[in-house]
Amino acid sequence: MKITVSKIPDGGMNLRAEKDGKWFQGMIRNGSPCDFSLERIEVACSVQRMKENVFIEGTLSTMVEAPCCRCLEPTKIPVGASFKYTFCPPPADSREEWELKAEDLDFAYYEEDTIDLDNLIFEQVVLQVPIKPLCRESCKGLCPHCGINLNTASCNCRTETFDERLAVLRGFQVKPEKH
Ligand SMILES: [Zn+2]
Ligand SMILES: [Zn+2]
Repeated sequence: MKITVSKIPDGGMNLRAEKDGKWFQGMIRNGSPCDFSLERIEVACSVQRMKENVFIEGTLSTMVEAPCCRCLEPTKIPVGASFKYTFCPPPADSREEWELKAEDLDFAYYEEDTIDLDNLIFEQVVLQVPIKPLCRESCKGLCPHCGINLNTASCNCRTETFDERLAVLRGFQVKPEKH
């Protein structure tokens, strides 16, 4: 979805957009693997213009499906974000550009009278997806020894860890834990 800056009315405008998971996959151009999938993304924003500068403020919501980082079960996570962006025409001096970019991540330049909202939506979704998704706070994860899902089953590996501790008590050599 593209906004033509010179066509933004003086009183601003409101936009609504819907994107789907396929669109999101298509936006990943660098070939970086994506270990989550998305349902419909809903975006609502207001667009204001002051001379050449454009202010975009809005919210987005979607449902992300990703493997739980502990038990690897597919997990649905509601994702919501509000965002604010300021767009300006590119500066004549390229050094100025660098300084502004370093200071303010919500600041961007537009070119040729056009702001591409798709990039903005994509960026926001990527920012909001949790780095370590959890199916639940109390997820017990997988047993590090046998790989069983400890949320739904139990195994006998824990007693082995206990035996190691007993070994210490008995004065046997046990590898120190890595930190
Ligand atoms: Zn889990
Ligand atoms: Zn086990």
